[in-house]
Amino acid sequence: MNKFNQHDDIILNGGAADMNLVATQAAEKKLLLQTYDRHPILLTRGEGVHLFDDAGNRYLDLLSGIGVSALGYGHPAITKAIHEQTATLLHTSNLFYHQGTATLAVKLTEITGMDRVFFCNSGTEAWEAALKLARAHAGVLRAEGKNIGTRFIAMEHSFHGRTMGSVATTHKQKYREPFNPVMPDVIFVPFNDVDALRAAFDENVCAIALECLQGEGGIHPVSKEFLSAARALCDRSGALLLCDEIQSGMGRTGKWTMYQHYGIQPDVTTLAKPIAGGLPMGAMLCTEEAARAITPGMHGTTFGGGPLACAVAIAVIDEIQQSRLLAHVTEVGDYFIAQLRALATGHDSVLEVRGAGFMIGVEMKSAEIAKEVADKMLFERHILINRTSETVLRFLPPYLITKADVDETIAALSSLIADAETAQAALAEEQVHG
Ligand SMILES: *Cc1c(COP(=O)(O)O)cnc(C)c1O
Repeated sequence: MNKFNQHDDIILNGGAADMNLVATQAAEKKLLLQTYDRHPILLTRGEGVHLFDDAGNRYLDLLSGIGVSALGYGHPAITKAIHEQTATLLHTSNLFYHQGTATLAVKLTEITGMDRVFFCNSGTEAWEAALKLARAHAGVLRAEGKNIGTRFIAMEHSFHGRTMGSVATTHKQKYREPFNPVMPDVIFVPFNDVDALRAAFDENVCAIALECLQGEGGIHPVSKEFLSAARALCDRSGALLLCDEIQSGMGRTGKWTMYQHYGIQPDVTTLAKPIAGGLPMGAMLCTEEAARAITPGMHGTTFGGGPLACAVAIAVIDEIQQSRLLAHVTEVGDYFIAQLRALATGHDSVLEVRGAGFMIGVEMKSAEIAKEVADKMLFERHILINRTSETVLRFLPPYLITKADVDETIAALSSLIADAETAQAALAEEQVHG
């Protein structure tokens, strides 16, 4: 008897393999840890920049599974790499060599300007590696006689993942406080407040941690002044500058990393989301100076840097380079942002458009309007976007969308925003006149 048969209130449509939406929802409600609030859509396949549900509806995907499917769905380069690698070698463990790690490390260090890489399986693991490296590096400096502590300075509205160290450096209380005590010795400063950063920084600090383009926090770019100040403070004391590029990296902003827009190199950076075309993978990259803190056995992972993930990541980087996708992201991203800004001038409910390349946020006047627009984009217009930080519409499209896809999106947004404004005005009128 399988697990489903024990629950007669869960009506299955045939076997588990062809469960419909209602049966899937009922089973998940009963059997999964209730961590997610999913949209009632059962996705069955993808093709290019489109997704399809079980009813045959087609969706234009402007979210890429939260910045993951940068090359869209069913991309031949990814499919080929997966087929070839699964037929050859899936797993080796880190006790042996395989050909993928060094090849991928050459490419990743080249595109990021870093010296060394540690491979893992997710964003939060990459960030944990960065935090552990910062603590270990400070330990080495102390052993060499330097006065440096163990404290992290993190940013307000930051997001770094869900494991204990990552939540400790993540600002949102809901993500952190239920799990207290999390990793100690973290303080938060207001993002882009140079005076606050300088005031918080002293010999206790082992690292300054930030996203150069905050994602979950509402698509806020770091100011050049703030990033320069952070770099200078770290240079003075030997503390490390950690830049989380898990959402903004791998070409999403039109450069390989967001920090490259500023011409400032961190000591440590983290990549994940789109790195292996939809397979789980993360990478922590660092300078030679930082790397000397780690010796064999100090850190590791069973699956990290496996042959399959490496083969696909190599294919992803090659494809981005060969098809000149960074230039495409810049060109179409600039167009998208310009169109959104033009839209904003005609609508009172659109406050600001922020971002770079294909990582764009549109700040709406209220959470209600943002929710209504995001929901109707999905359910009525079949265009996938999402809402972050309550009031921000977020766009993280695959790198393959065209200006025609942007035009379709702008037209849909424009009419839905106008509708939402009219509805809000009517509501306000009603309240005034009882
Ligand atoms: C998504 C994200 C993470 C966490 O990545 P997971 O793969 O979900 O662990 C960390 N930092 C940033 C900036 C992210 O966007």
